[in-house]
Amino acid sequence: MNRKLVEVRNLKKYFPIRGGVFSKKIGDVKAVDDITFDIREGEIFGLVGESGCGKSTTGRTILNLCPPTAGSVVFAGQTIFDVAENTYINKAKMQKLRRNMQIIFQDPFASLDPRMSVGAIISEGLVKHKLATRREALERAKELLELCGIRYDNVMKYPHEFSGGQRQRISIARSLALNPQFIIGDEPIAALDVSIQAQVLTLLQDLKEKMNLTYLFISHDLGVIRYFCDRIAVMYLGSFVEVGTSEELFNNPLNPYTQVLLSAMPVADIRDRRKRIILQGDVPDPANPPSGCKFHTRCPYAQKRCSQDEPVEKRISETHQVRCHLVD
Ligand code: SF4
Repeated sequence: MNRKLVEVRNLKKYFPIRGGVFSKKIGDVKAVDDITFDIREGEIFGLVGESGCGKSTTGRTILNLCPPTAGSVVFAGQTIFDVAENTYINKAKMQKLRRNMQIIFQDPFASLDPRMSVGAIISEGLVKHKLATRREALERAKELLELCGIRYDNVMKYPHEFSGGQRQRISIARSLALNPQFIIGDEPIAALDVSIQAQVLTLLQDLKEKMNLTYLFISHDLGVIRYFCDRIAVMYLGSFVEVGTSEELFNNPLNPYTQVLLSAMPVADIRDRRKRIILQGDVPDPANPPSGCKFHTRCPYAQKRCSQDEPVEKRISETHQVRCHLVD
């Protein structure tokens, strides 16, 4: 088994709510609420859940792009932060580590500077980190463009001259410039046409093999997650409700929320269709989450104890864990 590359322990990220004349803190939005997981080298770990469940905040907090409220993250043996121990990586070390940890954003239109040529965008990191001269960095940009399926002679063009799919390839090329070990894809194909989505996923898979990459792949689309990820965590209101391999989650979903998500998934063969479970009610306010199991206000199988006791994690197998009172 490969070594652990990313170790996340009891991670919390709360955003304060302020109100009143003196802008006093009156509560918290619990975007990420006590999650623990590891990602092993070469693995693709998927995070799935409805919009606003805390997937993107999890990714950004791991990368230290927003300060954590509690918990710890260790990357390749190096502690990025441990709130309980009051240990935080210093700026210089983080900058070095950042070369190994990159992110691809959802919107390829907003994430590329329209005033910079594609070559300048891709080579910026190499020049900033003093890893190459401008000329060398531009040559590397050309190589990366080719690797991502765009002809090298487009290197002096600007982002507006490309289609959405090509822009996302440029974003991917940028993320590879510093030769990272770990990439977070924050809904990287959500803004693309369906036909282009498959091409970008194939590209990400090829690059993983060629460059020995490890991914945290964030998506609300279970179909994509199933195709692409080795292990998957299902998130609801900032917490994990079920974690398992792709086979475990799709063949034996145990948490009712996972079952709801799967029942809404389109399938190619009508014989594979699951009975659709329609959720009642809206997603609860993350500033004031329900007591007990956070899903109890919408769960079709909720019992009395679900609103009182928070379910503890149950281990079904080495890789399959679930939180639900119905699972014994
Ligand atoms: Fe539903 Fe209760 Fe299980 Fe929560 S603990 S998912 S409310 S059955």
